[in-house]
Amino acid sequence: MFFEIKPRNRYIEVKAKGREGIIVFPTYVPGSYVIRELERNIVEIEGRRLSKNRFYVKNSFTYLVYTASFDQREAISTNDYLFINPPALFPFQEKNEKYCVKIDLPDSWKIVTSLREEGNNSFCADNYDDFVDSPIEASPYLKILQVDSSHIISTVDDLDVDMIRKIVKEADKILGNPGDYVFHFRRSSQNFGGIEHKNSTGIVVPWNRKNLEVLFAHEYFHRWNVKRIVPYDLIHNYEHEVYTELLWFAEGFTDYMAVEISKRAGVIDELTALKHICNSLSTLTFPGSKRVSLAEASKTTWIKYYKQDENFLNSSVSYYDGGLSLAFYVDLELNKKGEKIDTLFKQLPSKYTFDNINSILKKYEIDIEDLVYSPAIEIFNAIKDLVNLELVDKGRPYYGIRLSEDNVINFIEDYSPADEAGLFPKDKILALNGVPEIEVKEGESIITVSREGRIKEFKIKSSPNPGHKVKIKIGNVESTSDSQIL
Ligand SMILES: [Zn+2]
Repeated sequence: MFFEIKPRNRYIEVKAKGREGIIVFPTYVPGSYVIRELERNIVEIEGRRLSKNRFYVKNSFTYLVYTASFDQREAISTNDYLFINPPALFPFQEKNEKYCVKIDLPDSWKIVTSLREEGNNSFCADNYDDFVDSPIEASPYLKILQVDSSHIISTVDDLDVDMIRKIVKEADKILGNPGDYVFHFRRSSQNFGGIEHKNSTGIVVPWNRKNLEVLFAHEYFHRWNVKRIVPYDLIHNYEHEVYTELLWFAEGFTDYMAVEISKRAGVIDELTALKHICNSLSTLTFPGSKRVSLAEASKTTWIKYYKQDENFLNSSVSYYDGGLSLAFYVDLELNKKGEKIDTLFKQLPSKYTFDNINSILKKYEIDIEDLVYSPAIEIFNAIKDLVNLELVDKGRPYYGIRLSEDNVINFIEDYSPADEAGLFPKDKILALNGVPEIEVKEGESIITVSREGRIKEFKIKSSPNPGHKVKIKIGNVESTSDSQIL
């Protein structure tokens, strides 16, 4: 298919050429496991609607897409900035054919994309999968920062190029450098996150975010893990959810490698690295980790992780944090055998199963089958046997709640004093024993809340904290998790 696009403020006009027949717009963006329904942004189309995302069209047709987004997973078009994550804009017919886009922009605009350039402002890929895995960024203000001969940063903001250079160099030592790569980077007060692509990444962070090292290393390591070595069951179909049991490896192990790479590159210190591990391990101290395994958490990503509510820590477990913790365990075990975690990635086939992972580890007498398929608390217990790990808040008086900055309850631990007292998510705490300072008291107290605008009082009796604040000591490095549970 061939597309000619004319971006303007809030909209992109598209002229398309294909074959008369059915076109399909993706309902989600690969790498982000939630049905986003981006096809909702189509406001005009020359074609007959067949369903929410399918149309019958002639061999050439036009359509208009609303693109007033702030999200690098979508399409953004302002009068001085353009970012297109292609699944948000382009439909497909036959996936295994050439796809091209010609971009109609003034000459003063710079365009950056990892698509292959074919002529003036025309960019192509040999199939739909590659075409939609290559974002397009353009602006008259776009800066192209050279990291090295094959990596660039495309941004309208500023970034520490030296930090990225160190990360890239260290990451490439593990699995090699497959060629040209683009970091699309932007600051925003409206959005944040990163998403991996085959030869690029789109990263957006808030203005006050300082530490970008691990985020950049994470997205960059995806260039291998997920893009070149892929879970066997992660087969995108663009219209429907797909289920994989391996996101703990695709995401969590990538997260661990991001910490490792950043540490090896010297862009974070040992203490910061250990803090990442403590924070991840802390999430395994909640009820969800006694209920759900990493394999299960991975399969439910569409309804749990990507639709997190205030009960998430009771009902599931993060496959990022659980996977990072498991990778830490695996690395500790490999270290005992004189190896490191890199060996696992080096030996994996391009489509990997759990058995591939485990059979490599079994060569080093490590077996993680139980840790992946049993409730994730087992990972915490396994690590406790290997390192000096302590729950520093264990036994202290506690209520079992987490509060937002304005004292609104955003988590209630199951069977905790807060649960027994009758507190409810989104209750805004006004006072404890008549005083607005909220700190846990021994014994019984009266807690005053506003619930849906009604003032209510509850008796609450603190009990010993089961322990959520993780402290690890390795050698002379000691770190504690940030978790704030009252
Ligand atoms: Zn990721």
